[in-house]
Amino acid sequence: MVLDLSSLLSGKSSRLDFEYEITQEDEENAILPPDDVSFTAPVRVKGYVTDNAGYMSLKASAEIDYKSRCARCLEDIFGTFILEFNRTVATLGTLQDEANDEYVVVKNGILDIDRELVEDLMLEFPPKLLCKEECAGLCPKCGKSLNFGECGCPKKKEIDPRLAILQKLLENDE
Ligand SMILES: [Zn+2]
Ligand SMILES: [Zn+2]
Repeated sequence: MVLDLSSLLSGKSSRLDFEYEITQEDEENAILPPDDVSFTAPVRVKGYVTDNAGYMSLKASAEIDYKSRCARCLEDIFGTFILEFNRTVATLGTLQDEANDEYVVVKNGILDIDRELVEDLMLEFPPKLLCKEECAGLCPKCGKSLNFGECGCPKKKEIDPRLAILQKLLENDE
């Protein structure tokens, strides 16, 4: 969505609040989820721009609901990812380097942060999601989730290599 900052630029007001959604139908700002992730709702954007004697700054947060799978046990997980998006607002032509990502640029009184917001969102979205921090994962033998207790497979014992030789000799003896 475009934000009209003319009231701030003309000094008529010193704060502009905004709240809107970026939907999946907004092709210009298409949100491509990482593998194994689907976004289940529009991005909810909320924030404000303040003007402090000509110095404008923007504070926003963007929330998106997702569905994914635990990287260890493959259980479905649902969650909400929140991105903080804070920038200094500069008017067109006042910046040496307009690609500097601490800034967003107002053009003809209009500010559009959606492209950058969506890019940031995809960049910061966690590459690996777990159902819980201490997820025990799956048994490599039988594939059962170990979050609900032992699966019953015999555990591999760590054998001292010196004892292993002895054990081999004993096995040959049998
Ligand atoms: Zn898990
Ligand atoms: Zn098992």
